[in-house]
Amino acid sequence: MIIIPVYNVVLLPDVKLYFKKEAYQKLAGKEAELEEKVLLIPTKTEEVLSELEVDSFYPIGVLGRVRNTDLNDHVVVRTDTRVDLDHITIDENHSIQAMYSNRPDLGDMSVEEQKEHLKKIQDDLVSFMSDQPWGSMMKQYVVQWTSIGEIAVALSSRLRITSMEKYDILAEDSIAKRTDLIEKAIYEFLEISKLSNEAESAQEEDHQKVYREMAIKKQMEYLQNELNQMHPENVTDVQRFEKKIAESNMNETAAKEASKVLSRMKQEGNNSPEYGMLYDYLDFVTSLSWDTPESKEIDLNEAEQILEEDHFGLKKVKKRILQQIAVMNLKKKQAGSILLFVGAPGTGKTSIGQSIARALGREYVRVSLGGVRDEAEIRGHRRTYIGAMPGRIMDGIHKSGVSNPVMVLDEVDKLSVSYNGDPASALLEVLDPEQNSTFTDHYMNVPYDLSNVMFICTANTADTIPEPLLNRMEVIQFPGYTASDKFQIAVRHLLPKAQESMGISPSDIQIDDETIRKIISDFTMEGGVRGLKKRMDTLCREAAVRLVKGGETPVMITQENVREYLDAKPIRHDHILEKKNPGIVTGLAWTAAGGEILFIETTLTRGKGTVIITGQLGDVMKESVQIAVSVVKGLFPESAGLFEENDLHVHVPAGAVPKDGPSAGITLTTALASLVSARAVSPEFAMTGEISLRGVVMPIGGLPEKLMAAVRAGITTVLIPSENMDDLDDVPQEVKDQLTILPVKTIEEVLSITGVRG
Ligand code: ADP
Repeated sequence: MIIIPVYNVVLLPDVKLYFKKEAYQKLAGKEAELEEKVLLIPTKTEEVLSELEVDSFYPIGVLGRVRNTDLNDHVVVRTDTRVDLDHITIDENHSIQAMYSNRPDLGDMSVEEQKEHLKKIQDDLVSFMSDQPWGSMMKQYVVQWTSIGEIAVALSSRLRITSMEKYDILAEDSIAKRTDLIEKAIYEFLEISKLSNEAESAQEEDHQKVYREMAIKKQMEYLQNELNQMHPENVTDVQRFEKKIAESNMNETAAKEASKVLSRMKQEGNNSPEYGMLYDYLDFVTSLSWDTPESKEIDLNEAEQILEEDHFGLKKVKKRILQQIAVMNLKKKQAGSILLFVGAPGTGKTSIGQSIARALGREYVRVSLGGVRDEAEIRGHRRTYIGAMPGRIMDGIHKSGVSNPVMVLDEVDKLSVSYNGDPASALLEVLDPEQNSTFTDHYMNVPYDLSNVMFICTANTADTIPEPLLNRMEVIQFPGYTASDKFQIAVRHLLPKAQESMGISPSDIQIDDETIRKIISDFTMEGGVRGLKKRMDTLCREAAVRLVKGGETPVMITQENVREYLDAKPIRHDHILEKKNPGIVTGLAWTAAGGEILFIETTLTRGKGTVIITGQLGDVMKESVQIAVSVVKGLFPESAGLFEENDLHVHVPAGAVPKDGPSAGITLTTALASLVSARAVSPEFAMTGEISLRGVVMPIGGLPEKLMAAVRAGITTVLIPSENMDDLDDVPQEVKDQLTILPVKTIEEVLSITGVRG
């Protein structure tokens, strides 16, 4: 007899068991098929035949007979009674022997009752299977089963009970209890199957929904694209912005805000009054550049060459710019300090910004801050306002189309504080490297990284720039040009540019050097070259007219006919006086347009000691007059009576030139001293310097401009505060060569040099 160990199968008496042939051979051994009678014993664990031990078996098995070996691939075993295993042995060839005795069932359930139970389970199984796709096939089997035991065996592998519980069914003697155990197992299986079916179908429904949605969306997209291609004009704003937002690479906050505005736009529809505003906003933020640019390696020699090409002179300025570029190259980011170019108009401050951009291979953008009084002009208006706009900084970034332009902030000295906030403090935030990586324009309402922008500021004077702002910047002076500088600039840059823009070839026009010099001296009056540029443009425009009219080529421009070409009168320059008179002294003044000379005229008329001041003098100048009177009274005690019995009149001609500032102090004092001592000062002297009540000469600003003006006016000797001697480094050699420059410490020195006293 063959002993067949089985694992995890419901074994019962009076049922048919189907084994796969191969599996059966493995379980029973090679010659198994020959034997008809078998003993099936459940095992506690699943092991191959060779590893089974006596302990591996449960103590109850079931006898059976091999019924049908004709089936191609199955062996059918029909079981009959259960047996108690009394003794099991396993020999060295792994062949198993057993002694057993019958174990009868407890007949506590009638055949009718058993049939009723069978019927009920069959019905329940059938109704469950009707809902299954595979149900109809299975139903045929279910109705063929003749006992509950058969059902249990058939579903054996599906039942959710352990191998031990399966054995417990076999071990149960009472038929009623055994039926009960089987029913429990089958109903449990049914319930679990129903539940998981429900879950599965619910899940399937969910999946179907998602797939459906995806498919519909794809279809819609496809159809929309088709439509768009047929009618490009119909692509809606919302679609366009959706695409632009997705492609813009903007930071998370910005993308969120943009999506919020976009969904508002969808809701409002394009008939809403707000639509335009929302449109403008999205248009603005999506067309900004949100990319972080890679830092480029810059060839310093090439940069130097570009700066040289574009601008004549400005040696110091160019040197400092190259230093800045070198530092930027090493640090791979913006160098710490911000450059502030200070100088008269037309000295090249803005245009050199353009050259820097070219040298760095970056975009250039100019933002004018002249007359900005409202903080919102820097930082933008909140979108709640009608007509809200971004501030000038973000507007500049927008115009440049990149996130790292060279941005020239023009005229920072013309910012002013008003009740609308302090634009300077807003500007501070823009320029501060600690803060500007998250600069938030009120209009945009999301941060933008300005830390890659190279800021350059320009101003005519550093005096009116608020201290905190000035502290952030490094001042670079543009001192203005001498006549020979201007000549070189005209010949090398202004004239060729003017010719090019008027469409004249260089051979069409002939102008000699002397004529250019005449234009500089007689038709311009400035520290920079803006006026000169205009003259060159006018000249070429007029030449163009003559060429088109068929006049002679080349057009000859000479000293004689230049006035005709320029269609202007020569500018009257203050020149040194012919005669010397007591009470008149030449001073030097700094103006926003460069330097100027000015004459201080004083006279005493019969009266009662009143001081009359004319010539549009500012408050500081008026105070200087008071100081001068006191100093002179101290130096010339005998003059006290003169001032009491007469009225003093101080006049500074050329009223159009704004004259404020303390630097006329020594000039006023010398004029008064000359008046009371009746000793005239030579008109070839000019002077500048502030004075204290004790007669000490104090330093002044704008020395280079003032000395250039002195040269222009034909002065030969200038007196300057000795503390200003260091500033002479900034004065062109050409200017120094034409002047005798005398440093003075006290008013006594001034008076003795000019011959007024001692
Ligand atoms: P600013 O900003 O100082 O008022 P700009 O930069 O606008 O002056 O210069 C005015 C004009 O003069 C520009 O056309 C500029 O090219 C020209 N210019 C100024 N300085 C020089 C120079 N050193 N070499 C060549 N051109 C110059």
